[in-house]
Amino acid sequence: MSKKVKVRFAPSPTGDLHVGNIRTALFDWAYARHTGGTFLFRIEDTDTTRVTDEYINAAIDTLKWLGLDWDEGPEVGGENGPYLQSKRLDIYSHWAAKFIEQKDAYFCYCSPEELEAVREQQRAANEAPGYNGHCRDLTPEQIAAFKAQGRAGVVRMRMPDGGTTFNDLIRGEMAFDHKFVPDFVLVRADGSPLYTLAVAVDDILMKVTHVLRGEDLLSSTPRQIRVYQAMGVALEDYPVFAHLPFVMGADNAKLSKRNGEVSIAWYRDKGFLPEAICNYLALLGWSPGDDRENVTMKELCELFTVEKVNSSPARFDMKKLEAINGDKIRALTIDEFLTWALPFLTKAKVITGTADEIALVKRALPIIQERIVMFSEIPAMLNFLFVKEFAIEAESLPKVTDSGAKDVLKRSLKELEPLDDWSHAAIEAALRSSLIEEMGLKPRIAFGAVRIATTGSTISPPLFESMELLGKEASLSRISAALAL
Ligand code: GLU
Repeated sequence: MSKKVKVRFAPSPTGDLHVGNIRTALFDWAYARHTGGTFLFRIEDTDTTRVTDEYINAAIDTLKWLGLDWDEGPEVGGENGPYLQSKRLDIYSHWAAKFIEQKDAYFCYCSPEELEAVREQQRAANEAPGYNGHCRDLTPEQIAAFKAQGRAGVVRMRMPDGGTTFNDLIRGEMAFDHKFVPDFVLVRADGSPLYTLAVAVDDILMKVTHVLRGEDLLSSTPRQIRVYQAMGVALEDYPVFAHLPFVMGADNAKLSKRNGEVSIAWYRDKGFLPEAICNYLALLGWSPGDDRENVTMKELCELFTVEKVNSSPARFDMKKLEAINGDKIRALTIDEFLTWALPFLTKAKVITGTADEIALVKRALPIIQERIVMFSEIPAMLNFLFVKEFAIEAESLPKVTDSGAKDVLKRSLKELEPLDDWSHAAIEAALRSSLIEEMGLKPRIAFGAVRIATTGSTISPPLFESMELLGKEASLSRISAALAL
C-alpha cells in the first residue's frame, strides 16, 4: 500500500520570499492537493543572524496572500510541531549527541584558519578543497589537550567511503562520490545546529514523503541521506527527492535583483494579482501537456504531476506575467476591481476614501479596466478626477500653448458650453463634428489638446468618458484655464 503523500515547503526567510521560493511552494502545495496528501509548512530559522521575525511573518503572510493553505505549520499547528526550527533545538541536540555516541559523528577542533590553510594546500595540489578528516580519530588525550587550549569543537558527521545514489523524480538516477562529500558540520561550536542536520531530522520526524525543492539544494542531498542513515531510518522511509530547475532571468542568468524583480512583495506593491502570479509561476517549468497560458488553482491541483516538470531551467518573462495579470484584471467584476483598486488610490493619496470619492472611482473603473496591466497604474490614471490643484504636466505644456492648440480649445469651449447632455456620446459628437469635420483636423491633434487641457497629461483613460466623469463645470474651467496659459 502506498503511503499518503506529505510534502513540505521549508523556507529560510532571510528576506522576502522570492519568485523561485514561491514557485517551489506552489508546486509543493499543488502536489499535496493533487494527491490528496498533506502540505506542511516549516520555517527554517536556525540561522538567527539572518532570519528575523519580520521575515517569518512576511513569509506566512505571502503564502496566505497567494491562496496557499497548509495542513500543518505555523498558525494551524499539527501533531508534528513545533514548525519553527528555532523551537526544536533540543531535538537536534539529542540527535547530534546520539550520532557522537554511535561514532557516526565526532568533535572537530580545527580553527577556521587551520581549515583555510588545509584548503589552500589542497588547491595548490589541484585537489578538491574540503575537510581532510583531521579530527576523525582523536584520542581522549588529544581531545583534552584541545579543550585545555580553550577550543570549542564543532560536531562533524563522518562520511563513509563510497557514494550515495538516489532517484530524483525530475533528474533521474543521481550518484555522488563521497570523495567530493567531506565530513560536514552538524553543530556549530556555539551548539547551534546547521541546516543539514535540522532539515534531515525534521523531514524524518515530520514524516515527509516527498521533498520537492530548488536545485540549489541538490548537492546537500547526500549529506541529508547520511543523517537518515545515522538516525537508523529504514530505506523505504526516506523521502523521495525532486529538484526543481532554476528560474532564470531574461538574460539567462540566475534570477536576481539585478535582472528582474524577485521579491513577491515587489509584485504585490506593483499590483499583481495573486492568481496571476500563481498562474504564471505554475506554468514556468511545468505544463499539463498542452500549451495553455491560463491555469486556475483548481486546475493546477487537478493536473499537477512531478513527471510533467521540465528538467531544464525556466526563463522568467515579465511581459508574459504582465499580460496574464492584465487578463485577470479584465476578468474581475467591478466590485472586485474596486476592492483591489482602493488601497492603491489611498496609498498614493489620490483619495482619502470618502463615499463620494469611492462612488466616482467605481464609475471610472470600467474605462480603465481594459487599459492597465497592474493596479499601481491606477493612481496616475485617475488622479485628474480628484486633484485639488490641477496643473498640466510640464512636458505636455507646449502641446496646449501653440496657436493650433489654442484654436482647438477655443472651438471646443464654444461647442461644449451649450451642451445640456454631458454624456460621453454627446461630448464626442459635439467635438467630432466641429474639430474633425468642420475644422478638418486629425483626431490625434484635435483630441490631444483637449485631453491635455482636461486631464493634464497625454496619457489618460478614454477622453470623452474622462470628461463625462470630470463633469461639465470642471472640464470647461480647465479648458478656459489652458487657453489663458
Ligand atoms: N530552508 C532551505 C532554504 O530556504 C530549504 C530547505 C529544503 O527545501 O530542503 O534554502
